Amino acid sequence: MIKFSRLAAAILLSIGMNTISCADEPRPTPSATVFEGTIDSDMPRFENRLETEHFVLKWTNKSNHPPDNIKDPEITRETAEYLEQAWAKYTELFARCPYTAPGKYKIEVVFRDMDCYGVADPPDGPIQLSAGVWNDPKNNGVRRSTSAHELFHKLQYAYGFKTKWNLEKPYRWFTEGTAAWAEVYVWGRVSRAEKVDELFKDTSMDLHEAEDTAMPFWIYFVRGNHEHPNNQLMRKFFEACERLQDENLALNEVIKETYGSVDDFFKAFARDRKRGFWTGPCEAPYKCILGPDGKDIVTEVKDYQRKRSGS
Ligand SMILES: [Zn+2]
Repeated sequence: MIKFSRLAAAILLSIGMNTISCADEPRPTPSATVFEGTIDSDMPRFENRLETEHFVLKWTNKSNHPPDNIKDPEITRETAEYLEQAWAKYTELFARCPYTAPGKYKIEVVFRDMDCYGVADPPDGPIQLSAGVWNDPKNNGVRRSTSAHELFHKLQYAYGFKTKWNLEKPYRWFTEGTAAWAEVYVWGRVSRAEKVDELFKDTSMDLHEAEDTAMPFWIYFVRGNHEHPNNQLMRKFFEACERLQDENLALNEVIKETYGSVDDFFKAFARDRKRGFWTGPCEAPYKCILGPDGKDIVTEVKDYQRKRSGS
């Protein structure tokens, strides 16, 4: 990976990259790929600290690299609440705590200048959140979704992913897809609209080549497009992942047990993806999913499907 100095990155950043895609949020633009090096660069010094039941948040407003600064400490207090709420929802459904580094009982969360919304990699490292994205009042919805998303990666690590076993590519349809599902599970919204609509717009896209845009598949898996979702299937699936150390074998096992034929399940998904994925009125959480701008994306998806089946 090519390393860029922070100064060079800052200069390049100032040349008009305001919608920056993430190392963690996939689909990087060519420029974002260039910036991957900044993830590993030195941390700023954090003079501020907020400790909650499960998290230690750290930030600065005195960095000699000003884009690191968090101007309003209220933003970090609010984020601490978002993280605690996501923690509560995950531990309730999964009966397991997100992964913490050996000897640590809380997850460190830092705010800094970076080329993406957030990162939760490597497992023993802190959750890193973008100071620039967090400072922008327009991104209120993104703060919620991204906090839940990054914490879900820590939950994946608690099932051994990257801590006891690694996956073979392509696996981001699983790791990013389920983290995007978690955004919807916790908040009924996503940080980028593509996570909901791309799979329906591009119906020939290979599910396994998708990344966080595979998200609707995971809604389908827990029957989130029906009246009575079964979120417990996600827990079953992660327990099977831990046991089998293979997401495909684990998924097949749970599908077989729950729905019968694995082939038929994938065929039905391919068919429903083209027409009538969601039916019925808009109800939280899965029948109404807000994008970063607060608009419901499910309505938009239903419109495509109606037009497509009408033509
Ligand atoms: Zn992610």
